[in-house]
Amino acid sequence: MQSVNPYTESVREEYDEHDEADVEEALSRAENAFEGWQERSLTDRRRLLADAGEVLRENEEKYAELMTEEMGKPISQARSEVEKCAWVCDYYAEHAGEHLQEKTVKGPEDAETYVRYDPLGPILAVMPWNFPLWQVFRFLAPHLTSGNVGLLKHASNVPGCALAIEEVLRDAGYPEDVFQSLLVGSDQIEDIIADDRVRAVTLTGSGPAGRAVAEQAGRNLKKSVLELGGSDPYIVLDDAPLDAAAETAAQARTINSGQSCIAAKRFIVHEDVYDEFVEKFVEEMEALDVGDPMDEETNVGPQAREDLMSDLQEQVDETVEMGATVETGGEPMDREGYFYPPTVLTDVPRDSPGECEELFGPVASVFRVESEEEAITLANDSQYGLGGSVWTEDLERGKDVAANVESGAVFVNELTKSDPRLPFGGVKQSGYGRELGVEGIHEFVNRKTVFVQ
Ligand code: NAP
Repeated sequence: MQSVNPYTESVREEYDEHDEADVEEALSRAENAFEGWQERSLTDRRRLLADAGEVLRENEEKYAELMTEEMGKPISQARSEVEKCAWVCDYYAEHAGEHLQEKTVKGPEDAETYVRYDPLGPILAVMPWNFPLWQVFRFLAPHLTSGNVGLLKHASNVPGCALAIEEVLRDAGYPEDVFQSLLVGSDQIEDIIADDRVRAVTLTGSGPAGRAVAEQAGRNLKKSVLELGGSDPYIVLDDAPLDAAAETAAQARTINSGQSCIAAKRFIVHEDVYDEFVEKFVEEMEALDVGDPMDEETNVGPQAREDLMSDLQEQVDETVEMGATVETGGEPMDREGYFYPPTVLTDVPRDSPGECEELFGPVASVFRVESEEEAITLANDSQYGLGGSVWTEDLERGKDVAANVESGAVFVNELTKSDPRLPFGGVKQSGYGRELGVEGIHEFVNRKTVFVQ
């Protein structure tokens, strides 16, 4: 397995993949670890999680640099990611007790009835490279604390991050084997899911990967949670605060160099403010610093892999061939590293990739609409339903739009973002199940009814 720096295009390190025997050993260790781990008190498990948060804070620079070297995210954003991982550790260290407390539910008068939340066992997490620490911590913080053990299959281009997460937990004092990284390709996942010792699976990634994992989980009657792609609408109504909407639009499209599932991707703008918004938005996109991801000032780094950049290029080319106008950007930058510039497309035709596919890079598709109703119809005319954002001075109007957009989250006058306290997930082709908050920790527990006569 190779870790390639997308800024220098050079191999930074090579790792031996785990073979079948290694995986067999890991599964057996996970099963053994579960025995002791589920017996540990919740107080102990919460304390260890809080310690993991401390380890992250103490080593923020080291882990931030590792992410930037492996997948090219701007260093300031990498630091924020490490801090956010520490935050999710703090959150569940503090709140797992109340989230997992037995809940009294009224049954027959003469019986005591309640629900308890018991762990399931080893859970497989198949994770993507784009937030290589955050995606994994938002899985492990709730689910290890509820008493499960974790097996991570990280994306093949971030093996360094996969091993670093093991290190954080080791340094925090977690028992051995409560969390293990498997350095395996996706072709080994089917057998792992089928193994009786693995009780459930969660995947964050693309639709095709989600479909494959869900099929395998279904065949084996195992619970799955899927966090998949998105093409989030960003609706700018006729009474929107345009300066703020345009500034945040550029940030929402280019965060993580445009490689975020909840990045705003389709900008749906009322005709009364269309010209002004597009002008301001293009200005904001052109003002972003694109360059060395290790530079403090950089807003947009390289794309994480060469193939991802060329896929994006193909999608833009096809959209333009079908009739879209390039307002800015529009082709890879002529320099070392997998750089694609902030790009704005207008006149985006129906059924073009810019309209109906996920563009996983800093490319915005802008649409003109005549009314709020048309904005909602267009927002919902998508296979995806992950997040969304609506901009208006009238908060009640914003809430009405939020009620009508088909997605797992809608933010009024803010970009879509995840927060450990709030449930996160999608509908339609963006997946099912929730992470974070109380809903997240309940995904991988046995909600056991107890009836005492
Ligand atoms: P990806 O290619 O689907 O990979 C994600 C993970 O799935 C990787 O570990 C990958 O392993 C594995 N995988 C791929 N094909 C598989 C298969 N057939 N069976 C089992 N595992 C398989 O996605 P990505 O390029 O890393 O990430 C980008 C996608 O993730 C985007 O669509 C983005 O929107 C989505 N995403 C969603 C969320 C969310 O919360 N909803 C968050 C972040 C990203 P290999 O690396 O070895 O191929």
